[in-house]
Amino acid sequence: MNQESDVLLEVRDLKKHYVLSKRTVFGRREVLRAVDGISFSLRRGETLGLVGESGCGKTTTGKCIVRLIEPTSGQISLEGEDVVGASPDRIREIRKQMQIIFQDPYSSLNPRMTVGQIVGEPFAIHGICAGKERRQRVEALIDRVGLTRDSYTRFPHEFSGGQRQRVGIARALALNPKLVVCDEPVSALDVSIQAQVLNLMVQLQKESGLTYLFISHGLSAVKHISRRVGVMYLGKLVELGETEALFSSPLHPYTEALMSAIPRPDPDIVRERVLLEGDATDSNHPPSGCPFHARCRYRMAVCENEEPAWRDLGGGHFAACHLR
Ligand code: SF4
Repeated sequence: MNQESDVLLEVRDLKKHYVLSKRTVFGRREVLRAVDGISFSLRRGETLGLVGESGCGKTTTGKCIVRLIEPTSGQISLEGEDVVGASPDRIREIRKQMQIIFQDPYSSLNPRMTVGQIVGEPFAIHGICAGKERRQRVEALIDRVGLTRDSYTRFPHEFSGGQRQRVGIARALALNPKLVVCDEPVSALDVSIQAQVLNLMVQLQKESGLTYLFISHGLSAVKHISRRVGVMYLGKLVELGETEALFSSPLHPYTEALMSAIPRPDPDIVRERVLLEGDATDSNHPPSGCPFHARCRYRMAVCENEEPAWRDLGGGHFAACHLR
């Protein structure tokens, strides 16, 4: 397999800006830059984690990729096919290859539908199979995610949070997608249940060669499942690299602060806790220069005026910081 065909998803200079009703002192409408020019690619069968504080744009990125929301500009291609410019008919076809799992398994499942109807819904929407064949395929999916066959006729409220997320995963896998965008899939679950659902996701990936974009603010979950990790701040990627390298030797001060907050299982390993100054700036009032400069303990004069370039610092480890 050549290098090009190894890439499943390519995202280039993706932006999602919202024009707000509030006006600036100059009378212009304020603009919320939820996602502000990010680029990355995903190889087949890999998991790329996307982390950052609430409001950093990671969920908006995931929703733009599956076209649940329309990007303002930029390119997204799946297996070389343009996703942003695809016609409604074509996007319907492309969506079979890209599915999304949501954070809250309860609100993302229709409480009036049985599990059989929920998992079988993608078959109905795309007119793929019906009757006995649909039931067999749905039961096979229910088996794959570790639920019992009698789940078919039961309703979401009869299940625990972890079981409901398994239903969401079964529905996402119904059409054999290549890419699954996982939007905080375990954040609403107890820690012990999180591990079970993550292990299931890893197992399904091995079985089917799935590619995951795993969005989470939970760094432990991201570390557990991701081969590479991207860190977002105020709508921009500030660092991206192999998981081990990024967790052990972060190159961006924001990543360093995030990593320092992870509890250490070994009390002999002491890592200085880096406390961030101030709050994250609004995405509709981004600062000049480096977007992180108001909170950075290493900031220099240049940081306030000049935005650092996004550069490969070796071995596919990217960062945007004047220190590097
Ligand atoms: Fe800190 Fe400057 Fe690097 Fe921004 S560019 S993260 S302010 S050192």
